[in-house]
Amino acid sequence: MAEYSPYHKLIPERFEILENLKSLLYKDLKVHFNINYAERKLPVISYVINPEIEETIMITAGCHGNEPAPIYALYNFLKNNPKVRNKRIVIVPCIVPFGFCLHIDKNVNDVDINRDFFSNKPQKETKLLKQLVKKYKPTFVLNLHEDPDEEMFFLYLEGKGYRQKAEELVSLVSKDMKFYKRRKVHDDMVINGIIEPNESSTSFEDYLTKLNIPNFCVETPGLYPLKDRVKVHEKILKFIVR
Ligand SMILES: [Zn+2]
Repeated sequence: MAEYSPYHKLIPERFEILENLKSLLYKDLKVHFNINYAERKLPVISYVINPEIEETIMITAGCHGNEPAPIYALYNFLKNNPKVRNKRIVIVPCIVPFGFCLHIDKNVNDVDINRDFFSNKPQKETKLLKQLVKKYKPTFVLNLHEDPDEEMFFLYLEGKGYRQKAEELVSLVSKDMKFYKRRKVHDDMVINGIIEPNESSTSFEDYLTKLNIPNFCVETPGLYPLKDRVKVHEKILKFIVR
């Protein structure tokens, strides 16, 4: 467990939104475990819309705590009580609350869980995502991320059948945000807003791909104001669940 001084770095507003999420979702909410830090319990939760339906889309956010817009967007999205037909939606609104509350991309053990999916001793958060995938067998997974140092939007696409959906999503986002037409980002080439990665790594996306589960990892640019990024993530959520 990480050490902290009385002048620890927990951001009160971040903790508050996690508490608000818990109050909002009291029904069908599951607290899987808590991370103890600075005299607080930081909850790792999941929430299921339409639990009785089999066809499942899974949505995750908060893998990297320095990418906060998706968590705010999920809160707004759920607060509006979205009506979803014909699909079960499994949501993990903040998989690494420790990172979120401290605005860092690691968990309490200093591990980036998005590089932990093929390790011999996976972190609790990593194990939980794997368990949820095994339990619900999603036909599609949306992972909400941000790229703190980028100026424009892009997404990672895994799964050939979802190419058109990815293009539609980029077109939707382009109404609010610029997207990269052609640019190298972390060794991958973005073409018209979309990266189809060649090299696999040890991310959740790679884990899903090995299981033949199509997925998007969307990346809003951290150089846009937070409110614009939140708005775009809300739009993406509505688009994916409709
Ligand atoms: Zn990220």
